[in-house]
Amino acid sequence: MTSTRSQALFERAAAVIPGGVNSPVRAFHSVGGTPRFMVRGEGPHLWDADGNRYVDLVSSWGPMILGHAHPEVVDAVRAAAVSGLSFGTPTEGEVELAEEIIDRVAPVQQVRLVNSGTEATMSAIRLARGFTGRRKVVKFAGCYHGHVDALLAEAGSGVATLGLPTSPGVTGAQAADTVVLPYNDLDALRAAFAEHAGEIACVITEAAAGNMGAVAPRHNAELRELCHAHGALLVMDEVMTGFRVSRAGWYGLEQVAGDLYTFGKVMSGGLPAAAFGGRADVMARLAPAGPVYQAGTLSGNPVAVAAGLATLRAATDDVYRALDANAARLGALFTAALTDAGVPHRVQFAGNLVSVFFTEDEVVDYAGAQAAQTWRFPPFFHALLERGVYPPPSAFEAWFVNAAMTEEDFAVIADALPHAARAAAEATR
Ligand code: PLP
Repeated sequence: MTSTRSQALFERAAAVIPGGVNSPVRAFHSVGGTPRFMVRGEGPHLWDADGNRYVDLVSSWGPMILGHAHPEVVDAVRAAAVSGLSFGTPTEGEVELAEEIIDRVAPVQQVRLVNSGTEATMSAIRLARGFTGRRKVVKFAGCYHGHVDALLAEAGSGVATLGLPTSPGVTGAQAADTVVLPYNDLDALRAAFAEHAGEIACVITEAAAGNMGAVAPRHNAELRELCHAHGALLVMDEVMTGFRVSRAGWYGLEQVAGDLYTFGKVMSGGLPAAAFGGRADVMARLAPAGPVYQAGTLSGNPVAVAAGLATLRAATDDVYRALDANAARLGALFTAALTDAGVPHRVQFAGNLVSVFFTEDEVVDYAGAQAAQTWRFPPFFHALLERGVYPPPSAFEAWFVNAAMTEEDFAVIADALPHAARAAAEATR
């Protein structure tokens, strides 16, 4: 498989874009090699600039549950675009999207649309602080909530991949009000509430962790109880899980209600849109209804809203059944290939998010994810890539299936996996 054109584009990109990419994980730093420049996506497939076809197991980091260029979504985008790209006024589509979200996720009574998941979590935290009049925010190590200054403390995703504990440019003052705790550790949370009594505005958590690999939560119900006992809000970050792991996201699987929610990815249909929402009494504090400021020139953009609405409307029960079945099938293929090759591994699920950890121990937190033999991942990754499978280019990411995958795609994966498992077995530190 040749990657000459991707290589040439990457060199050109590196001259004008820092690191050649617009989001760090795309640069393949943790796996090495040349990032593939994609030119087309259709259904479960991507094609790169050299004409290679891949079965896509990243799905644009989550949004494309229906597969790429789904006809209903493309039609909706086209229809919206010809009617005008942006007005800077309210539109009916925004109301419909808010209604669709509220209809799906019972604890969400009001929604504000924004442009990225980062903006959603940043705004939710500001609102939680404004509502409670408190300063401190609790987050969990290995949970990634976007590149919000206050939340770039021991974050997972790109930052973990680069091995940076925090980012330069985040000041001590910005991080000082952030308390970082181990995921799934209720004793640590109880201790934090005791130590910072009356100071914690909110606890933000990935509803199910996907940014240290897939790690299902054990603590959500108690998190809610503890937050409420201490007058703090629970912010459920469903940017990754929302509308993917079920019709109602992780809430649909577990029914533990947060006070505030953040969404992105699937509800954007692949265009830049995201949202935060939750209890009406909390959302009422948001400008212009209340004093907590938040705004956006392109927020609720009609084309992005059309893509999101069309995606949610096409995401029927059959789509969720297909996502679950495809994730289970992928996980079973991982297990079979890695077992045959004698590679220590743990295949984990959080709903239909899947991950492979090269360890025999169950991973319940970030320390566990980091203790895995991540050096086995780059050869595993490249053996798949070479055989037409596009995996997430980091050991700390979940794998995202889509509902468009067919028998033929699973055959490609099944043929490639034994090679990848052998490559992982032969890897040296
Ligand atoms: N929250 C979670 C759980 C995420 O997975 C992400 C991105 O991957 C974000 C927030 C940030 O979203 P965005 O990349 O749209 O800013």
